[in-house]
Amino acid sequence: MPGHVSTASVVKRHGDIVQVKVPLPFPLRWVNSYLIPGRSGWTLIDPGLRTEAAEAVWDAALAELGIVCSQIERIVLTHHHPDHYGLTGWFQQRSGAPVLLSRTGLEQARCLWGAGQPMTEQLLALFREHGLPPELCEPMREHMDGFVPSVSPQPDVTVLEAGDPVLLGDDAYVPILTPGHAAGHLCFYRAETGVLFCGDHVLPQISPNVSYLPGGIDENPLASYLRSLREIGALEVRIAFPGHREPFPHVAQRAQELIGHHEERLEGMRRLLDQPKTAYEVCRLTFGDRLSLHQLRFALSETIAHLIWLRDAGQAEQVYDGDVVYYKQ
Ligand SMILES: [Zn+2]
Ligand SMILES: [Zn+2]
Repeated sequence: MPGHVSTASVVKRHGDIVQVKVPLPFPLRWVNSYLIPGRSGWTLIDPGLRTEAAEAVWDAALAELGIVCSQIERIVLTHHHPDHYGLTGWFQQRSGAPVLLSRTGLEQARCLWGAGQPMTEQLLALFREHGLPPELCEPMREHMDGFVPSVSPQPDVTVLEAGDPVLLGDDAYVPILTPGHAAGHLCFYRAETGVLFCGDHVLPQISPNVSYLPGGIDENPLASYLRSLREIGALEVRIAFPGHREPFPHVAQRAQELIGHHEERLEGMRRLLDQPKTAYEVCRLTFGDRLSLHQLRFALSETIAHLIWLRDAGQAEQVYDGDVVYYKQ
């Protein structure tokens, strides 16, 4: 019942910036959307995943804030993942606002959810090649197809170029390309105030997923991630507004922790390659047997990203047995 949603725990103000916790049906629990006021309207960052619960929270939050959708003047996306992008088309229909996303993000969104959803087949072929058992392929396909309603309708996107300042409210922010968690991911930084909107690039408490994806969009996403973590870690940040959990100040320290986490994981996986193993086997040994399909998808993509990093660093090699690829030291 939209009228009965309590907004007490979902709307938080940080000075002018309003954080709205939009519910997610995953263990992450919520995604942070941000509203920033300006003289001519509101900027909305990352509206969330489209579910009935999320729509109800938004209706209640906007009513409490006294905002009508026509006052939203632009919608800005840090990246194209469904938990951030899903409600964008819904908001665009109601507000008429332009939707700003990186070119790579737009290409990925089309590949995932545009006509024919070509990413689904490409990803299943990649997973089969990396040892996903045949009996899990069909459930994985259904799982991926199940996302389509949560990201529909598709918005009309205006491409945002990294480096070209963009207004969030009345303040100009620089979009910084930060690939790794998602190809085309952008953080938005204002040096004058030390404010950073960091999407899922750096999260407190959570290690953002780094996935290898087919299609040649990024041949070594973990290398991209470690590089862009160092870049963001070098900024002077007073407060960072992340895509999940709560705003936090210690970005440089957190970036360093995440680099250390991946270095440990790389070493752990490298040790498992004393005998040839598929990425699926390494994934099960690293992340366990009790993963949901959703978790398995991201754990397997993350494992492949690490094995490719090891391969490119000369610490592992790939050997094929028929159509299946194995990694060994
Ligand atoms: Zn994400
Ligand atoms: Zn996210």
